[in-house]
Amino acid sequence: MKTIKQSWAEPYKIKMVELLKMTTEAQRKKAMKEAGYNTFLLRSEDVYIDLLTDSGTSAMSDRQWAGMMLGDEAYAGSRNFYHLEEVVREVYGYKYLIPTHQGRGAENILSKILIKKGDIIPGNMYFTTTRLHQELAGGKFEDVIIDEAHDPENEFPFKGNIDLYKLEKLIKKHGAKKIPYVSMATSVNMAGGQPISMKNLKELRSLTKKHGILVIHDMTRVAENAYFIQQKEKGYAGKTIKAIVKEICSLTDGATMSAKKDALVNIGGFLAVNDWNIYEEARNMVVVYEGLHTYGGLAGRDMEAMAIGIGESVCDDHIRARIGQVIYLGEKMMEYEVPIVKPIGGHGIFVDAKKFLPHIPQENYPAQTLAAEMYLDSGVRTMERGVVSAGRKANGENYFPKLELVRFTIPRRVYTQAHMDVIAESAARVYERRRSIKGLQMIYEPKYLRFFQAKFEKL
Ligand SMILES: *Cc1c(COP(=O)(O)O)cnc(C)c1O
Repeated sequence: MKTIKQSWAEPYKIKMVELLKMTTEAQRKKAMKEAGYNTFLLRSEDVYIDLLTDSGTSAMSDRQWAGMMLGDEAYAGSRNFYHLEEVVREVYGYKYLIPTHQGRGAENILSKILIKKGDIIPGNMYFTTTRLHQELAGGKFEDVIIDEAHDPENEFPFKGNIDLYKLEKLIKKHGAKKIPYVSMATSVNMAGGQPISMKNLKELRSLTKKHGILVIHDMTRVAENAYFIQQKEKGYAGKTIKAIVKEICSLTDGATMSAKKDALVNIGGFLAVNDWNIYEEARNMVVVYEGLHTYGGLAGRDMEAMAIGIGESVCDDHIRARIGQVIYLGEKMMEYEVPIVKPIGGHGIFVDAKKFLPHIPQENYPAQTLAAEMYLDSGVRTMERGVVSAGRKANGENYFPKLELVRFTIPRRVYTQAHMDVIAESAARVYERRRSIKGLQMIYEPKYLRFFQAKFEKL
């Protein structure tokens, strides 16, 4: 007899649907060409299944929508701010909260406060906006993630871990005074949504404590990281996601949050710290860049939806279904032999474009090419995470990252299992005709974060 497998399923049912436009191949060809083979430049109307990002694209619950009606749109002291502050303290344990319009608003303020010219900021792989704010503040990012993270074939379960030997070497070389903080991300986005282990975090905490270096937590996907700790780390199987999330935060000194991911809202973010002096400075600065410290660029209703979303994001049933869907898609792709980053990460499937299109050199953007081909095949919109995203160094040279990936990011609570089937089948079809696919050349390059607006042409 076949063993009966235990399926994941959604802990919710659907109350309202959004109708999608279905396109023909000719329509998609035209749209892709007009968008300069950059999926960021497509109109969302022309997209069938949108896997560009999981940022701000999740479905809010009926409770969150009801919360929107409780928005207190006062300029100062909105009741929703106090609710959010209470939830952040209760769920994450950070003492002081500064709301911001989204994650990068918090990164800007934090980088300006903590980084001096010439400082070094070690981190477990860069993130685009995070590194840019560190550099704009005069710092230099140094990647201290373990080597396994750069190998898409390596199945180590905690590829988000920090290599403490690399970190110690940096401290020795530059001195602790030059290192204001370690930029530690949970569920490392650019490595494919790979988690950091609690053990590694504890070791990081004791090493940084010894040298008086802060740990700043990019907590954009902390609940997803907690799920992997619960599933894969010794001693955590019996703990709730809520307890694990709080333990992670307790090992850090402050956090920047893009609530558009884990926290199930369409807009919002925050900076949270435990140190009064940093808080005091951030509270002054937020007024310049975002808005008064009790709204930080958000409407009262946005803060209310965020407060409710944070609560929902740390429920075991929610996160099990969320990651269950991602794993379902990944396993389906593997059945079709599509080369993906392993192990499967938390927020999406990352296809290895170097392996998928080995005949296209990195100068001709294999991942950008593959993202365009996916759209042409089925109207599925994915995005490049490779040489285009990596951008240029301060001296103008291109970064050539080891990982050349196409990200299939899954919005939370939005698509069905049948959508996942359509995506995997489309990837398999493109894989079948991979040898006939040619690369791209860049014909327009913006100065900052070029992947958003660059344009290409087929070779
Ligand atoms: C999205 C994201 C950010 C930036 O947040 P925004 O809300 O997009 O400004 C920072 N770090 C990580 C890991 C992210 O995924």
